[in-house]
Amino acid sequence: MGKASRDKRDIYYRKAKEEGWRARSAFKLLQIDEEFNIFEGVKRVVDLCAAPGSWSQVLSRNLYLPAKMSPDSKDSDLPLIVAIDLQPMAPIEGVIQVQGDITNARTAETVIRHFDGGKADLVVCDGAPDVTGLHDMDEFVQSQLILAALTIVTHILKQGGKFIAKIFRGKDTSLLYCQLKLFFTEVTFAKPKSSRNSSIEAFVVCENYSPPEGFSEKDLHRLLEKIGSPSGADDLDCSSGWLEGPNKVYIPFLACGDLNGYDSDRSYPLPKGADGSYRSLDPVQPPIAPPYKRALEMKKALSNGIQGFEKLSLDH
Ligand code: SAM
Repeated sequence: MGKASRDKRDIYYRKAKEEGWRARSAFKLLQIDEEFNIFEGVKRVVDLCAAPGSWSQVLSRNLYLPAKMSPDSKDSDLPLIVAIDLQPMAPIEGVIQVQGDITNARTAETVIRHFDGGKADLVVCDGAPDVTGLHDMDEFVQSQLILAALTIVTHILKQGGKFIAKIFRGKDTSLLYCQLKLFFTEVTFAKPKSSRNSSIEAFVVCENYSPPEGFSEKDLHRLLEKIGSPSGADDLDCSSGWLEGPNKVYIPFLACGDLNGYDSDRSYPLPKGADGSYRSLDPVQPPIAPPYKRALEMKKALSNGIQGFEKLSLDH
């Protein structure tokens, strides 16, 4: 797909470039905020799986920059934003970056150290594994990322705090709902307008963190397993103490973002400049070390002849 053609078919991709966002995902977080007011009173945030950084940009523009511009701002009052990803990310003002795997305990410890004993008001996670197109597999790998994020949440989120995470809707959604309901009084699944209808992606918005009495972080996995196996999840009753019983779980599901706003599944005409032509903008910040970089290098080396390819293979 050419740049102009993508601009036409993906309005949020074009708008992201016009408004200086590194990725169209920025609109998803903004639309979730429109509905749930997630930034209210927030001073400390963790952005899990943050690269290339559009959610971190949203956090910086909504929390850090206004505080910094305020005439009576003190350094000690500035919001703390910690962003983590496997991939390196170009710097963003007011965002501390940690490069690491969120499923690794050492990454979680590094994040916790940045909070210096304090707690976060908000944890967001837009993590996505490389999608295979096999829905069950993608949903499973995605759910592992959410569990890793929830592990970090149980260490770092303050009582009453919020957690937002990307999910892939599937047959285990009700199990996930029940698991999250153990820790949050409000759990809602949301589909921002900028997320395509054709995509199984949605976001879970968890409000008012209140873990069970006497909960210890090291018991998380044992507790989650107790809730039930994925195959039994449709029969769980989240409202009863130990989630047993025949009642079906009805999950609150909400479309969010201005419903008269741009539709991510529609093509829009391209705006013409004074000379009657359309000029496509370059992406705001291309990824600095994307995982596909090596594949492209190898493809190029192959087309340059087998010797170049062998040299590249030896170099790595
Ligand atoms: N929220 C980002 C933004 O607005 O720019 C986009 C996130 S992108 C959809 C998903 C990210 O998840 C990728 O950058 C990927 O490297 C990251 N990711 C996937 N698995 C991860 C893991 N185990 N630990 C850390 N990051 C991970």
